[in-house]
Amino acid sequence: MASSLSFLLLLVCGLNVAQSQIRIFGLRASDLPSDLLGTTDGYVKVYCSSTSLGKTVVRHDTINPWWEEEFSYFKAQENDELRLEVHDSDLFFDDLVGVCKRQIKPGTHMHTCYLEKGGTLHYSYSLTQ
Ligand code: CA
Repeated sequence: MASSLSFLLLLVCGLNVAQSQIRIFGLRASDLPSDLLGTTDGYVKVYCSSTSLGKTVVRHDTINPWWEEEFSYFKAQENDELRLEVHDSDLFFDDLVGVCKRQIKPGTHMHTCYLEKGGTLHYSYSLTQ
């Protein structure tokens, strides 16, 4: 009896966890800093909580890159942390230009994020049930 009750509770709790879809799009950066070689080759890595959703292509030699990639994740939940890392690709070590973190909320949102080493990242996301 006790075990079937706990199974039922588990089932009910499982159903109560509302899973949503997040879509991240419209990534572009402006005024990224140059590295020692004077070239800025930006790309962005996207994470939702601890799950990697992938990364964009490298836009070579521009301080104002934009990316057409979109990222989707079907197991997102409200208040999960969306993390976007902007990197500058280099021959040996890629530089981390800055990190944008945000707790996700339902709806469609457009954000501007100021990067630690200079420049800004613009992005949009929408979280739907
Ligand atoms: Ca570079």
